[in-house]
Amino acid sequence: MGQGETGRFSVPPIGRTALWLAAFVIFALGADDDDLFATGEPVVGPSVGIALLWLASTPRGRLKVDVAVLAAATVAVSLVWDSTPWFPLLELVMAATALLVALGLRRWCPEMWGGGGRSSMRTLPQFGRFLALVVVSAMLCGALRTALGVLLVEGESWEPFLLRIGRTVTSMVAIGLFGLLLGGRLAERRDHGVPLFSVKPLEVVEVALVAAYTALVLWQGFVEHPHVPSTFLLALGVVWVALRFSPLFSALVGLLVGSAAALFTLQDHGPIAVVEDMGARGVMAQVFVMVMMVTAMTVSLSRRQVADTVVRLRRSEDALEHRASELDLMLETLSDGVAIVEEGGRIVHSNTALRRLLTGPDDEGYDGRRVRPAAAYHLHHPDGRPMTDDEMPFTRAFRGETVRGEEYHLRLPSVPAGRVLEMSAIALPAEPGEVPRAMVTVRDVTAESAHRDALADFAGTVAHDLNNPLSVVSGWAESLDETFRESDQVPATTGAPMVSHILAATERMREFISDLLAHTVARDQSLQCERVPLRNVVKDLEDTRLGPGSTRQEVETGELPDVWADRALVIQLLDNLLGNAFKYVAPGSVPRVQVLAEESDGWATVRVCDNGIGIPEDQRQRIFEAFHRAGRQGYDGHGLGLAICKRIVERHGGRIWVTGNPEDQGSCFTFTLPTTAEAFAAGTADRP
Ligand code: ADP
Repeated sequence: MGQGETGRFSVPPIGRTALWLAAFVIFALGADDDDLFATGEPVVGPSVGIALLWLASTPRGRLKVDVAVLAAATVAVSLVWDSTPWFPLLELVMAATALLVALGLRRWCPEMWGGGGRSSMRTLPQFGRFLALVVVSAMLCGALRTALGVLLVEGESWEPFLLRIGRTVTSMVAIGLFGLLLGGRLAERRDHGVPLFSVKPLEVVEVALVAAYTALVLWQGFVEHPHVPSTFLLALGVVWVALRFSPLFSALVGLLVGSAAALFTLQDHGPIAVVEDMGARGVMAQVFVMVMMVTAMTVSLSRRQVADTVVRLRRSEDALEHRASELDLMLETLSDGVAIVEEGGRIVHSNTALRRLLTGPDDEGYDGRRVRPAAAYHLHHPDGRPMTDDEMPFTRAFRGETVRGEEYHLRLPSVPAGRVLEMSAIALPAEPGEVPRAMVTVRDVTAESAHRDALADFAGTVAHDLNNPLSVVSGWAESLDETFRESDQVPATTGAPMVSHILAATERMREFISDLLAHTVARDQSLQCERVPLRNVVKDLEDTRLGPGSTRQEVETGELPDVWADRALVIQLLDNLLGNAFKYVAPGSVPRVQVLAEESDGWATVRVCDNGIGIPEDQRQRIFEAFHRAGRQGYDGHGLGLAICKRIVERHGGRIWVTGNPEDQGSCFTFTLPTTAEAFAAGTADRP
């Protein structure tokens, strides 16, 4: 009936109004039945239920037009029934109930279909509001209509007042409520594809059983044994359906069962038919229909609300669980240690990183459930004082302090290199009555701290090494200045040595600065790897150092392979090593250098051996550190060359070390470099 917007077809507004009008007229005239007029009043008035659905489903913009059409139809139908002059007015007053309820729904149930929304009635409060609206509106209009009747029409009395209210309320609850549920469901089907009824095979059996039971009760209670008060048994079937099925289906069953009982009653069958007065009987029959529907709706909606709540709870439980496992995963993947600690020392939550940071390889003595005394953690202040119980970050957080990134040194026998940890702690907000909690975070800053120390050393050495030649420059410049002041003419024999000192010092500075630059480049510049023939590199360097075509066989080379490396860096590596080999020779002896190589499994092992002054065993590791010189006087240098070599080799995934030269007393520098791209990739895979 005019559900224009809900189907696959759409009815224009005028057609919609016409369809509702037709339904209204048919239902209004249909009630004009002699049997139902036993009191001079129709006992059932289905048209007001139709009027409610009509106005409730009318779009806001068309409400005025439809109200006018409905009013005209009411007047027309009333004229068919009764030609008394005031009758149309009285009928209009009664029909106004539908308008009041429709307006009330728009105000108090706007989310519901019939109130302007698109969802079906699904909660008890919605049903309660609907019922209250219907009863209050019916009472208001019924009272007004009866009062006007008593005043204006001769012979009218207050007697039909209850019947009128009962008739209107029943019509609205039976037809109106069912229509609202149906409309809502159709709208949901259209919007979300929810099926109108979805019944499983077993449920069909269930419905059939309820139907059979109801038919039996009706037959036995209303026809066979009409004097046995068995009507209440009908409620059982309705409650059963309401407990198991949707509100729409339950309302339909309530309506059918109630209507069947009412029809039997009006046809003089059953326990209610013993009431002689037709009006009273009518009211009772209507009350029965209403009770059935209200029971059906109350039970079904409560059940649905409970089911909805359970689903919502389960969903939020699932969401919480999901979130919790995400948070756990996040905590576990963190490299920082995190713990939530209760006042008193119970550890509520902690991650694996915390255990890893606070213990050695064997986790010895670690307790993930309780905070242990400070001494058990072997933590010390940077000045060496051990951390006391009172100074533990979480204890301080409970005292109201915020501990932010404080450095502690872990000194455990199982962690010989030590560890520098940065700890923070903050008290967490707590509800009154809750045990206070604090969050402690621990970060491993060993590398950062070493880097910081190295940087400080570096800056100190650079400043010192630049200062030395600068003092030489300024010292000689001052002497030159003084000499100039003493006499206008400075002889070349005095001036030239001074200027050479200045030039030598500036040259040292230039070399040092270029070494510094190379040191940085060797670390930071991105590698451009290619096939580099070592043989050619050594040959070119030899030519540059000794002059092209040199006949002095100072550098002896074996079979040298190609390596997969950054050409510029490989040249620098070999240049530094060859340079040192030529430089660190005893005065007077002729340097002899051997460059030999072996290749296996994608790696070349290259040895640069010399007949020089050699390196004391205890210095062999340290000479690869920046600025470390093995205490050699008489040899120029800044102590950066081997540090650069080490960086270059390590960036290619290789190693470099030094041994004594067994043949010549000198030194042998050995390094490895990849000869293939694959070996390079494998060797540098875990490097940043
Ligand atoms: P620099 O040569 O500028 O001092 P390096 O880093 O190249 O700096 O070398 C560090 C130290 O290692 C040198 O001071 C020297 O004592 C030692 N050394 C390097 N190469 C040799 C070598 N071939 N023979 C003997 N000692 C060497």
